[in-house]
Amino acid sequence: MKKSAYKIHIIGAGVSGLIAAQILENHGYRPIIIEASNSVGGRVKTDLINEYQLDHGFQVLLTSYPAAQKYLNYDALELQELLPGAIIFKNGKPQTIGDPLRTISFLLPTLFSNVGSFSDKIKIVKLNALLKKKSLPEIFKADEKSTLQYLKDFGFSDDIIQTFFKPFFSGIFLEANLETSSRMFEFVYKMFGDGLAVIPKNGIQEISNQLKNNLKTTQFQFNSPVKEVKNNQIILQDGTLFKNHFTIIATEANNLVANLKSQETEWKSCDTLYFETKSKSIQQPIIGLIADEKSLINNIFYHTSTKTASKGTQELLSVTIVKEHNLEEAQLIKKVTADLKKYCSISEATFLKRYQIKKALPKLNNLQYEISSTETKLTSSIFLAGDVLLNGSLNAAMISGERAAMAIIQTLEDGFIVDELS
Ligand SMILES: Cc1cc2nc3c(=O)[nH]c(=O)nc-3n(C[C@H](O)[C@H](O)[C@H](O)COP(=O)(O)OP(=O)(O)OC[C@H]3O[C@@H](n4cnc5c(N)ncnc54)[C@H](O)[C@@H]3O)c2cc1C
Repeated sequence: MKKSAYKIHIIGAGVSGLIAAQILENHGYRPIIIEASNSVGGRVKTDLINEYQLDHGFQVLLTSYPAAQKYLNYDALELQELLPGAIIFKNGKPQTIGDPLRTISFLLPTLFSNVGSFSDKIKIVKLNALLKKKSLPEIFKADEKSTLQYLKDFGFSDDIIQTFFKPFFSGIFLEANLETSSRMFEFVYKMFGDGLAVIPKNGIQEISNQLKNNLKTTQFQFNSPVKEVKNNQIILQDGTLFKNHFTIIATEANNLVANLKSQETEWKSCDTLYFETKSKSIQQPIIGLIADEKSLINNIFYHTSTKTASKGTQELLSVTIVKEHNLEEAQLIKKVTADLKKYCSISEATFLKRYQIKKALPKLNNLQYEISSTETKLTSSIFLAGDVLLNGSLNAAMISGERAAMAIIQTLEDGFIVDELS
């Protein structure tokens, strides 16, 4: 059979599904992506509202991600750099801290800031050196503990944990208590140390768009939520049935495959609220962290402190909330507006839009960096991909998509005979 005649479906047009399609195309196959929504990107999307680019949640690409370096054209993404540091709002006062080894302008503010003791600052240098040397496989082989425990065991003071590590990593892990595995902490910390946090000039969705535009022979079927996947068969919610040779499920699979029903994925959620403001209280492209325990807001960022392809008439501010809350939208906006004023001295912020992301990052134990192709194989015709297999990151989504596609390619190269489709 000609390679192009194999019927291979990929469920999900997120980053993992798009990479799987690319690998299959590279090897001469012509996959079909079935996507529930009306566009590509999954969790990596951007809306244009009043000419402002609103990413679905505050997200950054870390340029040191090995898989992103392999699959993305960084130049074409026109990446806008965030400064390697943070402005910390504590007791109503902003203080700048950063990596003095990388941005010399941070040297004095970091050394003289009240954030952490002198011993904490020495320990940060020690942690940087340790993680520079530690390889990614070593990081993911290490015993797991919570990030909070890891930081305590490393000897960091409660002050620097509360003031810096908690808000910074809560914004990344999307949970307020640093319960996330120390493997993820070491991985993300190393990635921050080895590269830069960036956002494409067109917004985060440009990543998904680039991956989609690289695809030449893949077909897309949008607005097609899948209900069930069986061997050599996909059934859509509307009852349509597709027969195929192989399926890659590039999203959580437990809802789709009968014998996985018990293995439900737990998710971390967050809220991102966008506001327009007349001026910026932080001029440079640097994240703002709110270190006060009573604040509902975790972090803020002025998207208009970087270059954006489209720009509204004012400044664009995103506010991320990771603490659990039961507030109705109107109450939430009121509380966030009050917090902005109280903790960051930002008044006159006009609400634009809220993104309530219920399934933002998978809650996982035993985090992995990668997966072998054989491990992606669920049955003779069903393969799995998605960040849920490894860890919640773009890097993991890319690796999982690559490995699932390679598993199918390997199966066929090994001489697996597929049944004729009736
Ligand atoms: C707020 C937020 C901040 C983040 N920040 C970062 C960050 O700074 N850095 C980083 O590296 N990562 C970050 N991430 C994580 C990153 O976005 C994800 O790890 C990655 O996008 C996951 O890609 P995926 O392909 O595995 O899954 P998804 O993007 O979830 O794609 C799954 C796709 O499958 C589709 N689908 C689901 N069910 C069905 C069905 N039944 N039928 C058909 N289609 C279906 C969905 O519509 C979706 O398009 C963040 C995520 C969020 C939400």
